[in-house]
Amino acid sequence: LPHTTAIIGAGIAGLACARALHDAGRRVVLFDKARGPGGRMSSRRLPGAVVDLGAQFFSVRDDAFRRQVETWRAAGRAAPWPEALWQADEGGWRRHRDGRERFIGSPRMSAVTRQLADGLDLIGETRIVRLERQAAQWWLVDQGETRHGPFDRVVVAVPSSQAGPLVEPHDPALAAACEAVIQRPCWAAWALLDSPLPSLPGVDDAWQAVQVRQGPLRFVSRNDHKPGRADQGESLTLLAHLDWSQARLEADTDEVARQLLAAFAAVLPAGSEMPRPRSLGAHRWRFAQPDVFARGEAVNRDHRLGSDGLALCGDGWRGPRVEDAWLSGHHLGGTLVAIDA
Ligand code: FAD
Repeated sequence: LPHTTAIIGAGIAGLACARALHDAGRRVVLFDKARGPGGRMSSRRLPGAVVDLGAQFFSVRDDAFRRQVETWRAAGRAAPWPEALWQADEGGWRRHRDGRERFIGSPRMSAVTRQLADGLDLIGETRIVRLERQAAQWWLVDQGETRHGPFDRVVVAVPSSQAGPLVEPHDPALAAACEAVIQRPCWAAWALLDSPLPSLPGVDDAWQAVQVRQGPLRFVSRNDHKPGRADQGESLTLLAHLDWSQARLEADTDEVARQLLAAFAAVLPAGSEMPRPRSLGAHRWRFAQPDVFARGEAVNRDHRLGSDGLALCGDGWRGPRVEDAWLSGHHLGGTLVAIDA
């Protein structure tokens, strides 16, 4: 088949790239180490609740991404959220309004990545450990030493820190570019509570999320206040600051979860009683978001083309948001279609 492309990583960047190629009639096969698509937009299913542990919402700045979001909304896969966003610091809680549109996948964040994956060839539970070049074609070798191929092209759509070792033997310059992008870690905890949070003085009971400007937390959201999840009990996602996470990279998971819940209790107005957690846990994202302050040569390039049909996309090449990752993959797909034409 002409111009068969393998894409390693079925996060939103790999999926957007795959869609652009597929919609232009190209043959694409996606590989992901996880069972399904989604990457850092995936959700965790707990007994009686679904919690988003990666991206909490996505904002829209670019027109092409806006059209994509409209498609998701028309299909019932995305909805505006949070519409009741608050901010908390030592001075108390206040309503946060900045006029920016924000959305979430419905009934869970992964609804939008699943929509992109519809009809695409995706091989899950397959971690690619090595690329091999033979007779001017690419082969992908997985964790069980199974070889997949041949392919004309390979798009590596995994966090830049993990892309480097894959491309290094074939394109050292591309690997060096990966090394220049710093992906920072983030601890994300969840807590399913015994009972709803109490009413907070001066705060509308319908509050959906709060940006925290005090202590280790940066963002707390109520998963049961997200579109399509009203049937689940009070269930919080608690995201830590990247600096705090970096300093506790090897900390004990349960201890981190307890600390983040305690930090949230400390943010509640004086006198508010925190219900007991029925289930509490945490997930460590080793490569959560690219450092926007690393203004190296490698960043802000959108995507990268390497030698012999190697290419890279993902948030690391553009910026720390879902929209950046989607645009990176979408633009790379368009570039590859144009190269073939
Ligand atoms: P990923 O989603 O990481 O996709 C990469 C995929 O590659 C994964 O599915 C992984 O399983 C797979 N993979 C990796 N290595 C291999 C391998 N060797 N073989 C096979 N498969 C492999 N953005 C926002 O816009 N708003 C937010 O509120 C927000 N909050 C965030 C909160 C957290 C805690 C985190 C972690 C991220 C947040 N982000 C947010 C950022 C956003 O989630 C990411 O920018 C975006 O999802 C990245 O998409 P991606 O496709 O580039 O990478």
